[in-house]
Amino acid sequence: MDEMLDTAPCGFLSFTDNGIITLINQTLLADLAYSSEAVLNQHINVLLPMAGRIFFQTHFFPLLVSQGRALEIYLSVKTENGTEIPMLLNAVRKQRGQQYANDCSLMVIHQRNEFEDQIIRLKNAAEVAVREKEKIYQELLDAHQRLDDKRAKLQVALNLLEKMATTDELTDLKNRRTFEETLSREIEHAKRSLWPVSLIIVDADHFKSINDTFGHPVGDRYLQQLAKILQSNVRKNDLVARYGGEEFVVVLPNTKAAGAVMIAEKLRKAVEVSIWPERPLTTSLGIATLSDGITEKAELLKLADQALYYSKHHGRNRVTHFNELEFADL
Ligand code: GH3
Ligand code: MG
Ligand code: MG
Repeated sequence: MDEMLDTAPCGFLSFTDNGIITLINQTLLADLAYSSEAVLNQHINVLLPMAGRIFFQTHFFPLLVSQGRALEIYLSVKTENGTEIPMLLNAVRKQRGQQYANDCSLMVIHQRNEFEDQIIRLKNAAEVAVREKEKIYQELLDAHQRLDDKRAKLQVALNLLEKMATTDELTDLKNRRTFEETLSREIEHAKRSLWPVSLIIVDADHFKSINDTFGHPVGDRYLQQLAKILQSNVRKNDLVARYGGEEFVVVLPNTKAAGAVMIAEKLRKAVEVSIWPERPLTTSLGIATLSDGITEKAELLKLADQALYYSKHHGRNRVTHFNELEFADL
């Protein structure tokens, strides 16, 4: 054999159509740890494990005969001591004289297999990492969801707290604290803008007698009904609050004395004509309006209370604006 082919950096062998090995180079003999005597003129089966022999007979050789070549065939080749070596095989079929020669180049592909194993290991590790990442991402989403739920619950609790802090439990109207804050704010706004602001105090007439005659729970229902009547007869920007006991207050932003009297009169009538559980209820009302002479909250409250006092002592079920008192007999 040509020396260059004998020591080429890949294995070479040639076999006849009967499978007899007629040529094998030193490189392949060294790869397989065979001596040339053990292989030359032997059937190619000596180099093939059982599965390889079947593959050779049923696939490789028929392909070579029909196509004249068989490229990039992976197969295992047996060494003399029986271990199997993975090899890559290219074969061409040529006519030499009367016979056909099947020339094969073979290369050990240990490294390639190791690379493949490494790639598979890395791919598996990458898949595990991706799954882990997805799991952590899902956990993060769950944690976000739980946080959102907690936040929503907290908001509901805060809203409830806010409502409890600003609302009268029995009547669901704003409480005295909210009234005080609103009135202060409106007075400051009125002073800045020179808009008027009026205050009405509404007090249920002879309410003690309702409690005494029909019991406290009935009295409570009267207060709830009274609250509804007041609330449903004012404008959106007016504030109705429970001042305490059977006394209510209405803050009327941007409302002069005459307008406040009209609204108070409307409230008085609405209470008077309402259908009550046991017996009719009436109210007395006192009004004061912020003016040059009256600029403070306490003053406004005091004057509205004086007007209410006047209503109480002049027949009840009536409306009095403090302005009327200048000429009236207190
Ligand atoms: P006037 O016409 O002079 O205002 O007479 P009045 O009986 O309405 O006034 P008084 O101040 O003598 O009585 C107020 C009553 O309101 C006494 C109190 O028991 C009752 N009251 C105060 N708060 C409540 C409440 O929350 N529920 C009930 N049922 N009654 C209440
Ligand atoms: Mg009363
Ligand atoms: Mg009272």
